[in-house]
Amino acid sequence: MAEKKNYYEILGVSKDASEEEIKAAYKKLVKQYHPDLHPNDKLAAEKFKEINEANEVLSDKQKRAAYDYEQAHPGMGGFGGGGGGGGFSGGGFSGFGGFGDIFDSIFQGFGGSASVQRDNTGEDIRLEMKLSFMDAAKGCTKEITYLRNEPCASCKGTGAKGGTAFKPCAKCGGRGQVRYTQDTMFGRTVRVGACPDCGGRGKIITDKCPDCKGKGYVRRETKVTLNIPAGVDNDSYIRKYGFGQAGADGGAAGDLIVVFRIEPHKLFARKNNDLYLDLPIPFHIAALGGTIKVPDIDDVFDYTIPEGTQSGTTFRIGGKGLKTRNGTGNMYLKVFVEVPSKLSRDQRRRLEESASAFDLKQFEKSRRFSDSVSALYGKEPFGK
Ligand SMILES: [Zn+2]
Ligand SMILES: [Zn+2]
Repeated sequence: MAEKKNYYEILGVSKDASEEEIKAAYKKLVKQYHPDLHPNDKLAAEKFKEINEANEVLSDKQKRAAYDYEQAHPGMGGFGGGGGGGGFSGGGFSGFGGFGDIFDSIFQGFGGSASVQRDNTGEDIRLEMKLSFMDAAKGCTKEITYLRNEPCASCKGTGAKGGTAFKPCAKCGGRGQVRYTQDTMFGRTVRVGACPDCGGRGKIITDKCPDCKGKGYVRRETKVTLNIPAGVDNDSYIRKYGFGQAGADGGAAGDLIVVFRIEPHKLFARKNNDLYLDLPIPFHIAALGGTIKVPDIDDVFDYTIPEGTQSGTTFRIGGKGLKTRNGTGNMYLKVFVEVPSKLSRDQRRRLEESASAFDLKQFEKSRRFSDSVSALYGKEPFGK
């Protein structure tokens, strides 16, 4: 099984850190590495993902216990596999899928001394948003409307009227868990599972919240405003804390993760903050030189092409790329010389007249080619 990251090291806390210590370390790191502050920074994004992953496990009693157990007993299977829960890695956005099952299997035969606590944080919602090239380059504000289970305000997500109309569950005595004995081919095992009467909550609603009918959430359109910084790129994302699905029993809501897809541009290509532009120019401008109005993100600017510019030449124009919090990029202008595909009779006559004025010595590459062919074959490729 793949080696598991050390979540304690990632958060910079000791193995016996308290919940408060973990929370404080997480908050501090999240502020430091938040992707809003580091657009385009892959390392920071990776770090941010790790921090969230570590927190997701260590801030949850059940997951932390399972993780500690797994660390102490490597090779028992179980914990791994899910990978980047909660982070941004190929769609693993809803946390540790099927964790409950894994947890059960780890505790098989242990008599269940650990307290089973359901993870009641809501699921993250992952949405993709298309952005035009220019919106991504300049930054923009977008409103996004989506359906989610919004925590019910009047019962604080508990489903009980006023958030208080509960009584302890009689079946499990309020513990939320019951023990099952099972006869298997390996003998008798004791499994601890969620109480079927209260669903592991340990309490039963006596009076349902009238607004959400006891569900603790209301299915509703949620509107969120995204302040998208200049320079977001494909796979950049914004995480809006608490805008995911409502948690169970008043647990915290998950997060909304909006991943950006940037549409291509008619003229530009982009790499981080740098802009790339292919610039076709008529052959006479290439030969004579001339000033061209070159487009950038905001407008056009004058750029003088020197005389004798060759096809394929790239000009680097400082500061004409994207302006983002990470600095300002450059523009790379790649010139392609174009000859007319058709000439009028008059143009042809005039061009033929001037052609005799040119010497092959003025065409460096053509001359070198000609020299090589002459040397090898004793014949002039451009005639004589
Ligand atoms: Zn119960
Ligand atoms: Zn309610």
